[in-house]
Amino acid sequence: MKIGFIGLGNMGGPMALNLVRAGHAVAGFDPAAPLPEGVMQAASAAEAARGAEVVVTMLPNGAILRSVAAEVIPAMAPGAVLCDCSTVDVESARAVADEARAAGLGALDAPVSGGIGGAAAGTLTFMVGGPADAFRTVAPLFDIMGQKAVHCGEAGAGQAAKICNNMILGVTMIATCEAFALADKLGLDRQRMFDVVSTSSGYSWSMNAYCPAPGVGPQSPADNGYKPGFASELMLKDLRLSQQAAEAVDADTPMGALAARLYSRFVEEEDGKGKDFSAMLPRLAARGRDQG
Ligand code: NAD
Repeated sequence: MKIGFIGLGNMGGPMALNLVRAGHAVAGFDPAAPLPEGVMQAASAAEAARGAEVVVTMLPNGAILRSVAAEVIPAMAPGAVLCDCSTVDVESARAVADEARAAGLGALDAPVSGGIGGAAAGTLTFMVGGPADAFRTVAPLFDIMGQKAVHCGEAGAGQAAKICNNMILGVTMIATCEAFALADKLGLDRQRMFDVVSTSSGYSWSMNAYCPAPGVGPQSPADNGYKPGFASELMLKDLRLSQQAAEAVDADTPMGALAARLYSRFVEEEDGKGKDFSAMLPRLAARGRDQG
């Protein structure tokens, strides 16, 4: 397939590389990131998109996605598919899909879970919104870049799934960390706490697969000085997107709102920036009762 790939950063770079390795012709554009081996350099986003059957974007946010989409949509041939894999607000995803549809293109919002490791290994999970025929066109590429692609519904459904998942993740990580901090002060050994909770009704991905306590449970960023992993500022981004969406549709999400507030303090007022989001444990363990 002839593919345009726009945004070749930490995620987009290895994703584009996997497409090249699978034998696809990939033209890439990024004003800053290095070009992965085998990707053809395009002079602009529009040039990367011209003649492509599928254009993949992997960009920082919705505003940048909208400006890139305005540039690439006129350059794409009718019938081609614009597939955005960035994590952006639902509104931007739907606006870009509308513009693409009006130009005779297919459009998918297909954010990912799995992080930089998943992008390099080709084991991402894609959650996808948009028409079924566009999903079928891009499915072979999802298979190369990932291990699972779920078609979640119409335009915006992929972003909706992503922010709902990550809102649960942020909340359960904080709950797991505060339970460890309480256990410490009650004199309960962390390993014993893990042995009980990981096989009891308090279990979760945060406890069982990504335990925030160093030396306890499977290998995780806690065992590596809380080097990300999944950085606290990326968790904050996703929690903010969840609250932006909740406001737009008048959904009551009190735990998500509190999680967003806690990660915002951690990243913007304390020392959480650049640390894995599970570093919420040493933060909470070092404090007295505060409730903030
Ligand atoms: P990144 O900052 O490493 O990469 C983004 C790239 O976009 C940069 O290289 C930047 O130069 C490029 N860019 C900016 N403006 C551009 C433009 N106008 N035209 C072309 N390229 C442009 O970020 P990342 O970690 O690769 O994340 C990309 C997206 O994936 C984000 O939306 C993020 O939320 C999401 N995501 C990241 C992770 C992760 O673990 N890093 C996990 C899941 C989802």
